[in-house]
Amino acid sequence: MCGIVGYIGKQKAAGIILEGLKRLEYRGYDSTGIAIWQDGHFAVAKKVGRVANLEPETAKHRFVGTCGMGHTRWATHGGVTDANAHPHVSSDGQIALIHNGVIENYSSMKKFLLDKGYTFKSETDTEVLCNLIAYHYAKEPESTDPDESRFVISVRKTLRHAEGTYGIVVMAADHPGELVTARKGSPLILGIGDGESLVASDVAAIVSRTQSVVYLKDGEIAHLKANTFSITTLTAGDVSPVIDKVTWSIADAELNGYAHFMEKEIFEQPLALENAMRGRFSEDGSTALFGGLNISANEFRGYDRFMFLACGTALHACMVTEHLIERFARVPVECDYASEFRYRNMPLFRNTLFFVMSQSGETIDTLGAMREAKRKGYKVLAINNVVGSTIAREADGGIYQHVGPEVGVASTKAFTSQLLIGAMLALYIGRMRDMSFSEGVEMVQALKRAPDLVRVALQQADHIRGIAQRYTQYRDMLFLGRLSLFPIALEGALKLKEISYIHAEGYPAAEMKHGPIALISEQCPSVFLVSSGEMFNKVVSSMQEIKARKGKVIAVCTESCKLPEGLADELIVIPECHEAVLPIVATIPVQLLSYYMAVELHRDVDKPRNLAKSVTVE
Ligand code: GLU
Repeated sequence: MCGIVGYIGKQKAAGIILEGLKRLEYRGYDSTGIAIWQDGHFAVAKKVGRVANLEPETAKHRFVGTCGMGHTRWATHGGVTDANAHPHVSSDGQIALIHNGVIENYSSMKKFLLDKGYTFKSETDTEVLCNLIAYHYAKEPESTDPDESRFVISVRKTLRHAEGTYGIVVMAADHPGELVTARKGSPLILGIGDGESLVASDVAAIVSRTQSVVYLKDGEIAHLKANTFSITTLTAGDVSPVIDKVTWSIADAELNGYAHFMEKEIFEQPLALENAMRGRFSEDGSTALFGGLNISANEFRGYDRFMFLACGTALHACMVTEHLIERFARVPVECDYASEFRYRNMPLFRNTLFFVMSQSGETIDTLGAMREAKRKGYKVLAINNVVGSTIAREADGGIYQHVGPEVGVASTKAFTSQLLIGAMLALYIGRMRDMSFSEGVEMVQALKRAPDLVRVALQQADHIRGIAQRYTQYRDMLFLGRLSLFPIALEGALKLKEISYIHAEGYPAAEMKHGPIALISEQCPSVFLVSSGEMFNKVVSSMQEIKARKGKVIAVCTESCKLPEGLADELIVIPECHEAVLPIVATIPVQLLSYYMAVELHRDVDKPRNLAKSVTVE
């Protein structure tokens, strides 16, 4: 969850590293730190808080070295203090380390090192790993092979003992101009520049310097110098690296005049949806096409059950997808929290195809669940946004969301594109079964209209901002919807919690009577998501029940809903749309409501407290 940036080249490293760290702050931001090799030792600056807090410290150090590394921490072991911030330097001063992840067996390592006389300044698992590398380094004779130096060998020896997850960058005091980096379960990307090499936990940190990247795999160790790099494995095997080109540029990750990335990404959604569906409909316009499934139509047709695994917002997209596949393709679908699935050893039907959804493709729980399903012999397809991510690479096939980088911690455009892909999957599977040609054509045309309908919904922004201004004093809110709008109610509640810190819950509207209605009073407003379909009258009854208990009602309704006079305190109208598109369009008002509430409350919208963008620790 932390951010990692390393640099070796001809330029002063500090400025490049700080710039990279700023682009990674959304991944975790308890504290930051930087280490630069200069004059035969490590110059280190660390500070609690954001990168902006570190900048004055780095100015004091007058960093001039051309090799260094920086980190933004999301604390797992040890409080948020300057001492616990990374980089850590071994007690003999030989090794410096930054780390993303958790070393699960750090206590036994620490005991071993204390007995050997190593000392510790922090409470972190990371410092233990750092000292263990120093221990092996001190014992290792210098090798004559420049790629298999004592430096690389001691990192490898240490990692063979490390249980848990890591993405690390290591520097050795007497190997200037070299970085060693390795991963297991935490993403790392090498940037191959002109006379310079970089490493980062996210492409965003290095894309301003190079678009040539190597995605490091689990169990690999890379040895970087300014002009060369080599990759080996934990078992000392050689790896032939594949250099990929990043398709997006730094402009995609800039604010472009918006106040926050979340706002920018909300308003980008019509374009994002167009990108997610481009080239993905058949020539006869009756079904969807996906290039990377790696499963023949025949094999796909043979599955009689689908299982979707995800966490957080992506799980809500899976729940909508469940509804749409069952409705349009008539195949049973089950959704589960990836974090639960991976440990609960549930009995599974044999003929099941698995899907995992994760914007980043690095979510550790989703990755773990995918590996568990694969271990049990199932095929797993992945729906991800980040190209080349770990989940995308380990899956049997998949679908990329193609919505460009999502920087705001609260997912918006990634969510609606997951909804779109879920609807397209329902169409694809439906057309293999009983959905007729004309129904398919109707659905394709409806999906193609989705970006325009989202544009119409976005026109409500000023109206919704006005509502937000009137509701900031409330501490609790309910979000209610039925059928495919129930997961959107969950998503609305999650968005509000994440960025405004107002307590909110999502429920199927009729469930309210089974408990949550006890919360209703003048102090607890409810947001209803209402469409004009079969459930309309029933949802209206639920609204009446709220009004009877003096609860305020904010109604998000499609155009043709005729609500009884005075029932809604606030009305947000969205366009009428096809069932497959409705969840996408209904999402826009709840995103805008959460966003404007958070802005009114002066929350740090793009960097909400305690959260990080891609959750790479368990
Ligand atoms: N476990 C390490 C710590 O608490 C690294 C956490 C992170 O991934 O930022 O310092």
